[in-house]
Amino acid sequence: MKNETITICIKCPVCGKTISLVLNKPKKGNIGRVAINHEDHIIVIDYDIFGHIRCVNVFKRFPIPQTGEILCRICKKPIEIRKDELLHEYAYIHDDHVVVVYVFNEHYQIEILPLAKVTQEPLYNIVDELIKQHGIKKISGIITHALIHSYIVLSIELKYIQHLFLQLKSLRNTIILFDDNVDDTKYENFSNPFIESVLVFVKNLSYVDALKKLDDMLLFILNLASMINKHNDINSKVIISLIEKIPNKALRDLILSVANVRKNDTEKNNV
Ligand SMILES: [Zn+2]
Ligand SMILES: [Zn+2]
Repeated sequence: MKNETITICIKCPVCGKTISLVLNKPKKGNIGRVAINHEDHIIVIDYDIFGHIRCVNVFKRFPIPQTGEILCRICKKPIEIRKDELLHEYAYIHDDHVVVVYVFNEHYQIEILPLAKVTQEPLYNIVDELIKQHGIKKISGIITHALIHSYIVLSIELKYIQHLFLQLKSLRNTIILFDDNVDDTKYENFSNPFIESVLVFVKNLSYVDALKKLDDMLLFILNLASMINKHNDINSKVIISLIEKIPNKALRDLILSVANVRKNDTEKNNV
């Protein structure tokens, strides 16, 4: 059976940052438990098969000591049992696992947990972040331009768009050129209202869902456009007449522009 995953999204109770994680589903009847590195603190979450959080604990993180009373049973790094307080709980990060130490009087207990993998991709919703920084019109305009022309010229300030495009099948092959003399605001004129509405929808989703929904919608547009282009004149006309019936004018215009059947109205602005 393939390893099923679930997406979990919570706010860190200490620093308030949103945490989005893709985790393996626990076995039926079991609870999953995983640690998350938040620099000076470590969050441990318990979650069930439905991705519901059952419990959140936060531990102070200490740097790995030179020496310690015991060694980690996985990687043999020293673990210090700090008895400076009556009741003490803290954690160390060891590469791919986290060691939580619980000290009570003269006793202690060690728990070893898997460290949640932080992928290369940012774990926050990149679409939301880009919109917050640059405004929805500009981001929508850049995506629209990339869909229609397969290339884009940006100022270095918009470097982050590259991260977004690389994660989307639909826009992965867009040629991105950087030129600091470019005025990115011109892309606002390119903004397509349909793309804007998709962005408004996905910006509140978790980053995994946001990327998937945005990609699905862009692939749908590209597929319809390539259907028009692939067919001979007569069949193309049939497909175009069907697309002309799409009630959303912005979507209709966009598909036809991507297929290069109709120039987008905004192209008059000559980007
Ligand atoms: Zn935090
Ligand atoms: Zn270890």
